[in-house]
Amino acid sequence: MRLIAWLLAAGVLFSAAQKTPMDTLAEHYVKLVLAMGQHDTDYVDAFYGPAEWRKQAEAAKRPLGAIDAEAAALLTTLARDKPPSPADELATLRHHYLTKQLEALRARVSMLQGKKLTFDEEARALYDATPPAHTEAEFQETLDRFEERLPGNGPLIDRYDAFRSRFIIPKDRLDGVFRAAIDGCRQRTVRHIDLPEAESFVVEYVTGKSWSGYNWYQGNYRSIIQVNTDLPIYIDRALDLACHEGYPGHHVYNVLLEKHLVRDRGWVEFSVYPLFSPQSLIAEGTANFGIDVAFPREERVKFERDVLFPKAGLDPKLADEYYEVFALTDRLSYAGNEAARRYLNGTIDKAAAAGWLERYALYAKPRAEQRVRFIEQYRSYVINYNLGKDMVAEYIDRRAGTDPQKRWVEFEKLLSSPRLPSGLDARR
Ligand SMILES: [Zn+2]
Repeated sequence: MRLIAWLLAAGVLFSAAQKTPMDTLAEHYVKLVLAMGQHDTDYVDAFYGPAEWRKQAEAAKRPLGAIDAEAAALLTTLARDKPPSPADELATLRHHYLTKQLEALRARVSMLQGKKLTFDEEARALYDATPPAHTEAEFQETLDRFEERLPGNGPLIDRYDAFRSRFIIPKDRLDGVFRAAIDGCRQRTVRHIDLPEAESFVVEYVTGKSWSGYNWYQGNYRSIIQVNTDLPIYIDRALDLACHEGYPGHHVYNVLLEKHLVRDRGWVEFSVYPLFSPQSLIAEGTANFGIDVAFPREERVKFERDVLFPKAGLDPKLADEYYEVFALTDRLSYAGNEAARRYLNGTIDKAAAAGWLERYALYAKPRAEQRVRFIEQYRSYVINYNLGKDMVAEYIDRRAGTDPQKRWVEFEKLLSSPRLPSGLDARR
């Protein structure tokens, strides 16, 4: 009897000794994120930690003021307890991660309490990055190239729309095309990245959303990937979505974080993913950058021509032409940020924001309207896609140069680490 009591006490002591002060702080952080989910339904994008923590958050429904006060106290503790040694890179990144994520949580609390931030202030506070500004003249240069490529009368957007209409995936072929795209992305990814055997996901087709695709990470290396079929889906979107949501994008990022940080190290803070936080810039940036890592331009066109165009019933001979025009649209992606900045700062209204997207981002009207709904729901989150991709690209270029093998190595390291936007900076 006494022996059992002794063993139990020793067991308790042992587990208490295993948990570091940082682990305890991380647990508080997770609970704060879950508490925020009670005030903001989009906030908790994924959670696969202890289920009772979520139930506790639902029952407690802590007020925003109390959440903010605890976040402030945790930040004070973090500022006092610097990581043990700068040589331990992951421990340093963990400390930086918790600090930046908590600061962003406090910024989101203040927004829910009614504080008004400009687009740039909000982007800095939530995503740890400063979005660049672009002028109409810069976009006009690209539009002029479109004019040369697609000459004719009437508005450019109509000519562009007519050109693209030949590349819509018929609805009854969508699933087949999408699955072939996922196979292609997965094959290329597993050649370079070891994934746990159990990883898997399901694909669902949905309607009535402001986004075009979404990955809902479930934990245990599983994802649910949803594809929105409200609007016609063009052939380029198949590979984009498959890489972005699946391999080597969100699914792989979440799987690697779960494996390396949550399971191997017991870092519970990575079992929750707050959407409006710096982690999103890394998530979206790596997901978009991953498309180019898995499919460099020439390889992409070949795969589209040989595999996806035939699966979609499109003429493979048109693949080159389509991707030549499609390459130009990349330069217009920042026009979407400008529409968001102007609309959220109140300098243009909703109709003008849609008009701006039609004119400078070449979005057809229904897509422009869908995008304005996205901007209303997710606000400055829009920067995470293009600025995120550019910041990740610059980071990988700097560390790996043009060697494809090295690029995969550095990319996998980034996907497996708690690095945040300001940690992509050359000086860190
Ligand atoms: Zn995404």
